[in-house]
Amino acid sequence: MSYSISSSSRSASSSRPGFHGQNRSPVRYRVGPMDYKPPTPCECKHKPKAAMWISWSDENPGRRYKTRAMSRMGGCNFYEWHDDPIEDPFLKQLLIDLRDKVRLLERMNSELHRGAMAVQERQVVQAENRLAPVARLPATARCGYWKNVALFVLVVALVWNVLFV
Ligand SMILES: [Zn+2]
Repeated sequence: MSYSISSSSRSASSSRPGFHGQNRSPVRYRVGPMDYKPPTPCECKHKPKAAMWISWSDENPGRRYKTRAMSRMGGCNFYEWHDDPIEDPFLKQLLIDLRDKVRLLERMNSELHRGAMAVQERQVVQAENRLAPVARLPATARCGYWKNVALFVLVVALVWNVLFV
């Protein structure tokens, strides 16, 4: 893969890849969008550094480009490809397939996570329902239970005393 800047591919067309949603990167960026060198300034007044992103479109999977983060809201039309297009159709399709696989697994993972959370919530509710009758007993009834326990311990102590001491 070549890393030359092909200024001929500069364009401000609406077909530019987005930053989120369907074009969200399926892998973590190894280099932050602003961490590349040397900096490419955009054409705005104070020549701010353009951020480097990775395209995950069907047309340009894995191809890096530079634009300002603010260009989403308008105000800056700077847009430049960093890599040349991937010529090898096999590699291009492989990247698309891997992208789709990652997104499918992410969707399945979040569905499983939601399912596990729902099961956990149901178990908590069931456990609370099992405990509820005891908790709802009047104070005198609960008091009676502890009186019985105390009486039982006293009887055991007396029997122990009579038999073994
Ligand atoms: Zn600009």
